[in-house]
Amino acid sequence: MEVRLKILYTSLCHTDVFFWEAKGQNPLFPRILGHEAGGIVESIGEGVTDVEPGDHVLPVFTGECKECVHCKSEESNMCNLLRINTDRGVMIHDEKSRFSINGKPIFHFVGTSTFSEYTVVHVGCVAKINPLAPLDKVCVLSCGISTGLGATLNVAKPPKGSTVAVFGLGAVGLAAAEGARIAGASRIIGVDLNSNRFELAKKFGVTEFVNPKEHNKPVQEVIAEMTDGGVDRSIECTGHIDAMISAFESVHDGWGVAVLVGVPTKDAVFKTHPINLLNERTLKGTFFGNYKPRSDLPSIVEKYMNKELELEKFITHEVPFTEINKAFDYMLKGDGLRCIIRMDG
Ligand code: NAD
Ligand code: ZN
Repeated sequence: MEVRLKILYTSLCHTDVFFWEAKGQNPLFPRILGHEAGGIVESIGEGVTDVEPGDHVLPVFTGECKECVHCKSEESNMCNLLRINTDRGVMIHDEKSRFSINGKPIFHFVGTSTFSEYTVVHVGCVAKINPLAPLDKVCVLSCGISTGLGATLNVAKPPKGSTVAVFGLGAVGLAAAEGARIAGASRIIGVDLNSNRFELAKKFGVTEFVNPKEHNKPVQEVIAEMTDGGVDRSIECTGHIDAMISAFESVHDGWGVAVLVGVPTKDAVFKTHPINLLNERTLKGTFFGNYKPRSDLPSIVEKYMNKELELEKFITHEVPFTEINKAFDYMLKGDGLRCIIRMDG
């Protein structure tokens, strides 16, 4: 059930940086990072019937076996077999790695390891897409953009005319803002510690901005004042525990829903007074915006092809593979959104 992919384009998501810094898990090195990518099936293993060599695909960090209770549920994308596992550095089939150097294994990362010209992934983590779709653009749908979009459209589900706060205005957060705009939100409040993000965020429909550093009270209080009690929906896309708690405490009592998207550090603890929940606020979380990768990604790619979804505005840099470290520098500096890494360079 494995396929070997030739990766043509990959991009850097904050989750790669986070695991490179070993903040999210027990350190597992050496490993090949990378999970946001586009490529072509080079060869297929025994049992694979869904794809064939030459197919254009997006590998995804969380899979879909299509047989388990989660895959059969309309509400879940947490496949029993192939859900994201950040501690496993080997293939499921034989618990071995497909990469080695001088006979020593190099571990995989979230089943994808796309910072490599060739990689081996389980077929359940591969979405076959329209071969006419430009892989250097749609590769960003294999993680960040779909995640943010789905966090809003599938999980937060803001009613038309509502007020939405987005914490963290990187690619994931701005895709969440884009989802809010598509859903017909009337106010979209962007929260970021980096004010340089605000100009860029206007292109994504963000109407107001809050930099927590510019206020001497908690950001949830600032938002409550701006909105007469709180926002209808909030989506947290930072990975920082303080922002997660603020995002939750920023929603209106009675109906507010907060959605956590950022990946927390391994010792993070979410702390809030239970009365905040009793007062009829809802807290949710999601991986990959609740999309089922194999079933749902092809149609998101079609949205791009039909010009219903713009991806170019998320792509701010491009480098050859030899200069991949520049992509890390851009992300660490908060410069731009997505950096496409060309594997032929
Ligand atoms: P990014 O670095 O491009 O953007 C993060 C933004 O958050 C930055 O602009 C930063 O200035 C801002 N920020 C950091 N701390 C903040 C705080 N306390 N308050 C307000 N803003 C703050 O990252 P990205 O690639 O957009 O990813 C965002 C998060 O989503 C990361 O945690 C990443 O690991 C996570 N992620 C989760 C999933 C999922 O399926 N759940 C998928 C992809 C990415
Ligand atoms: Zn990602």
